[in-house]
Amino acid sequence: MHIGVPKEIKVHEYRVGLTPAAVAELAARGHTVLVETGAGGGIDFSDADYIAAGARILATPEAVFAGSDMIVKVKEPQLHECAWLKPHHVLFTYLHLAADKPQAMALMASHATCIAYETVTDANGGLPLLRPMSEVAGRMSVQVGAHYLEKEAGGRGILLGGVPGVAPGRVAILGGGVSGVNAAQMAVGLRADVTIYDISTARLAEIDQMFDGRVKTVFASRAAIAAAVESAHVVIGAVLVPGAAAPKLVSRSMLSKMKRGSVLVDIAIDQGGCFETSRATTHDDPVYVIDGIIHYCVANMPGAVARTSTFALGNATLPFVLRLADAGAAAAMAADPHLAAGLNVAGGHIRHKAVAEALDLPF
Ligand code: NAD
Repeated sequence: MHIGVPKEIKVHEYRVGLTPAAVAELAARGHTVLVETGAGGGIDFSDADYIAAGARILATPEAVFAGSDMIVKVKEPQLHECAWLKPHHVLFTYLHLAADKPQAMALMASHATCIAYETVTDANGGLPLLRPMSEVAGRMSVQVGAHYLEKEAGGRGILLGGVPGVAPGRVAILGGGVSGVNAAQMAVGLRADVTIYDISTARLAEIDQMFDGRVKTVFASRAAIAAAVESAHVVIGAVLVPGAAAPKLVSRSMLSKMKRGSVLVDIAIDQGGCFETSRATTHDDPVYVIDGIIHYCVANMPGAVARTSTFALGNATLPFVLRLADAGAAAAMAADPHLAAGLNVAGGHIRHKAVAEALDLPF
């Protein structure tokens, strides 16, 4: 199969669909990989690295699309990229179509087979191609919180780990899923005082076992969250209600009870955020202050650590890319219902029930 890797074109998007190591795996199996020049340049994968791995470098995205059977990307294609997709193409990337009707219509018009990373499932009911980005965002949230607690960054002037004779900072993590637990791992590593709040008692029990007493677990009642917000120095919003907007767990009125110079990190901002005062920010201008409380609400946190994120995403996507390339999309999806769950658009129709319902389009 011919597999194409165009350069990502969204602002400040430095990730790339395939690493040179992934290209080498595909080349070893007899596939041809076409990489747009400069596709990995932002994270120091040079054209020479891709050539050494067995890729061919092409000068334009049009040439990559025209020469390929399957396109592997990171972000959803922009509308002019959708116009380069033809019925024979397989597109494998994040799509997030439920909130993007223009893109859905453009993909339908292409008649291509479009498989979305975010709806591929695993045997445990998880989303294996979303997981790595939640891991990155969770781990990053603590280093962001620690940074903005520093005085010169506008914070309260607290070292999360404390020192002998001085108590550590308190980190409250709302939501103990993938990102919440990864945040806790980092916060514990820094020796902070860490508490996770969740409404799933089963999950709280798992977390209790996982951390062997180094993380406190508390059922996420309104009263418990109000108390947490009052005493914490960093509050990390990491809740998810699948398919719904994030619940607003911290109201504006609670901010006045917080310590001035504390930090709110809202990882759940991509689902609307779980603090009433959250609004999406960018890496160019990541924070704003309300009532003396620093808000960090960057919707694509993994983009800041694009090299780590590319490797993490690539580790998760490569097994699927190999199966799609070796067997072809139809056979690979027939053999694996979890990969088939990723199918969003094919033959001019929406092929994913929840996406069709969200867009009010026939399934
Ligand atoms: P997850 O499903 O693994 O975990 C969510 C947890 O929230 C679950 O344990 C659930 O029980 C808990 N929860 C649900 N409602 C709650 C409530 N009312 N109170 C307390 N806990 C509650 O989700 P995840 O993978 O950790 O993702 C969390 C959010 O982070 C998602 O919105 C995801 O899209 C987002 N995310 C953002 C970025 C970014 O760059 N900002 C990156 C990756 C993921």
